[in-house]
Amino acid sequence: MRKIKFEKINSINLTDDFNDKIFITLDLDWAIDELIDDTLNLLNQYDVKATWFITHKTDLLDVLQKNENFELGIHPNFNKILFNQDPIDSSCTSIITKLIEIVGGASCVRSHHLTQSSSLLNIFSQLNLTYDCNTFIPANSNIILKPWKIWNNLIEVPHFWEDDISMMFSSKLTSQNLLSRKGLKVFNFHPIHLFLNTNSLDLYEKARPFFNDYKKLKSIRSNDFGIRDFFIELIEKCNSY
Ligand SMILES: [Zn+2]
Repeated sequence: MRKIKFEKINSINLTDDFNDKIFITLDLDWAIDELIDDTLNLLNQYDVKATWFITHKTDLLDVLQKNENFELGIHPNFNKILFNQDPIDSSCTSIITKLIEIVGGASCVRSHHLTQSSSLLNIFSQLNLTYDCNTFIPANSNIILKPWKIWNNLIEVPHFWEDDISMMFSSKLTSQNLLSRKGLKVFNFHPIHLFLNTNSLDLYEKARPFFNDYKKLKSIRSNDFGIRDFFIELIEKCNSY
């Protein structure tokens, strides 16, 4: 039986076939420290390598940076400009530059809501980012994935599974099914869904007013099979493959 290894996005090499690797990525989405800490403990417990896409400054960044299992990328939010929410922070370049500074240098980017455009891809490249992770190609499509290089040398790294989107598909894919796929296998999790063990988008909506209230979030965690259970099952399967 083949062994499946965890890898970080910045280890991606275009000539690899990726059959025996999986990539765990996490979009921070402004999670409170208690939730980041919860995800951190989960990853440490299973000794999992992961790429974190950072949204904001927190004391825990130092802890993440010092852990060799982790790579820190950036998770810029361009919705502020697109939907005119914050007239002060009005340039894409300043949003990206601020986050690169917070992280202390990054080679990966995934935008909040996967916002991308050819202009943004050029800005990413000019700011020395190497990997763009904004393309979602669902595993349900059965396309065998690999990364590719674009005109400005940026490497596109598609992901094939995302926790919140998996809840929108009527046909659910099992961890076994996903791990048996050939090609690039990038998973995208959020600390909020790992913490809540989200099993439906209704629970997520119920939690929305309490994103900063740890006690309340703790009281509404799901006991049914949810995203945390899926994560643990996936990791245990990789380790026992
Ligand atoms: Zn996001």
